[in-house]
Amino acid sequence: MDILYEGKAKRLYATAHPSELRMEFKDDATAFNGLKHEVFAGKGRINKSITLTLFSFLEAAGIPTHLLRDEDETRLIVRKIEIIPIEFVVRNVVAGSLAQRTGWAEGTALPEPLVEFYYKNDALGDPMLAPDHIRVMGLANAEEVDRIRSLCLRINQLLMGFMQDAGFRLIDFKLEFGRDGERQNQIVLADEISPDTCRIHDLATDEILDKDRFRRDLGGVMEGYQRILEAIRNHAAQR
Ligand code: ADP
Ligand code: UDP
Repeated sequence: MDILYEGKAKRLYATAHPSELRMEFKDDATAFNGLKHEVFAGKGRINKSITLTLFSFLEAAGIPTHLLRDEDETRLIVRKIEIIPIEFVVRNVVAGSLAQRTGWAEGTALPEPLVEFYYKNDALGDPMLAPDHIRVMGLANAEEVDRIRSLCLRINQLLMGFMQDAGFRLIDFKLEFGRDGERQNQIVLADEISPDTCRIHDLATDEILDKDRFRRDLGGVMEGYQRILEAIRNHAAQR
């Protein structure tokens, strides 16, 4: 079937059904706006399985998502939606760009979760936006921003609990949302949730298990991802 889009970490294909897409997870890893690139055999398979497990959990907990069904090792079938071009970052602990922006030490627990908005635009380097920019730029209306912000906080509550029970600390993560034209433009959670898009540490040792292993040349990138997959799969099976 036709390839509709190839991004840094995934490919989207048309299917026989116009409102469904095939989403393929690639083995490529990129960081620093594409400046750093490496291929990790098995990453696509692991990230697909982690995304499937977490989206199934969230859907069951009442969060509307784009997930329709599993397809094969590296691919999911999802609802084709109109993506809102904003990356919604939710943070529980200071890391990455928040440490740089605030001067707060990495690892500092935040007094409350923080939701941030970044414009999905590689040419501009994904700049941070305020809710007013989002409205004035016509990216989303005020009601949509409020709805997505509360979905972000609810998803954070759900994922923090899930990760803690699986033996991990959820430092921060990135979400994408869109409008589902087949369901009255309802806001749905889209894209992926994986160690590429989250910071996840071991609860007992604080060991880094996510893409920071790649960003910081710590080695053992796939070992970290595989540990996350096994633990969350076991936890999901016990629930
Ligand atoms: P990037 O575009 O940042 O390089 P990816 O390689 O992950 O990222 O590409 C996946 C693309 O698919 C992203 O642009 C994402 O917004 C888009 N996408 C995710 N879910 C859906 C969906 N359900 N319908 C349409 N587009 C989607
Ligand atoms: N993130 C992402 N895609 C991006 C930017 C950030 O998935 O394009 C995730 C990142 O993995 C981390 C969180 O969002 O879990 C916060 O990232 P941060 O703003 O600290 O950016 P960084 O400095 O890590 O690029």
